[in-house]
Amino acid sequence: MLARERVAVTEYAPTLAELTPGRTGNLSVRRGDQFAATPTGVPYDGFDPADVPVVDLDGEVVAGEMAPTSEVPMHTGIYRRLDAGAIVHTHSTWATTLAVLGEELPPVHYMITAVGRRVPVAGYAPYGTDDLAELVVDEMADADSRACLLAHHGLVVTGEDLAAAVENTYVVENLCRVYLQARQHGTPDELSAEQLAAVEEQFESYGQ
Ligand SMILES: [Zn+2]
Repeated sequence: MLARERVAVTEYAPTLAELTPGRTGNLSVRRGDQFAATPTGVPYDGFDPADVPVVDLDGEVVAGEMAPTSEVPMHTGIYRRLDAGAIVHTHSTWATTLAVLGEELPPVHYMITAVGRRVPVAGYAPYGTDDLAELVVDEMADADSRACLLAHHGLVVTGEDLAAAVENTYVVENLCRVYLQARQHGTPDELSAEQLAAVEEQFESYGQ
């Protein structure tokens, strides 16, 4: 069941440890009405594809020996309402710095168009709850963004597959760093809607 997706989870799980030291964060990849997700409570290099939990869009575990991440509601919420093939959730340092300030990431660099025209920030709710999932999905839908900061918590990012979701996560983490560093030295200007539209057109024609 979801053999290819479960292998992808084991391949990409170690990137969570690169993004944030320790065992925080989780990721998943979808096929149809099910998704393979990182298990909870084990090191990111400490499980095999057969251990990887497979979960349906109601949050029920349908395969795998290990319990899935505590953030299953956020994953099911995103897959049910948004166009996403994979999800990465991390407490990476620079995105989380912006998140604890309760601020969104504005379009100060053209690369933000990899995920949208801004990265909104969702209000705080306890981790793993339906409340948090709803806040996040609402913000992503409103902003038409593939990424969302979670106040006092971290970041969630989607992509059409796991490779894209991981790539997008590194883009957002880097932009949060650049934005916060730039603010130490001045006030960065935002790109205009016209400028962002032109970049979106270039990405569609030539790629990044
Ligand atoms: Zn978290």
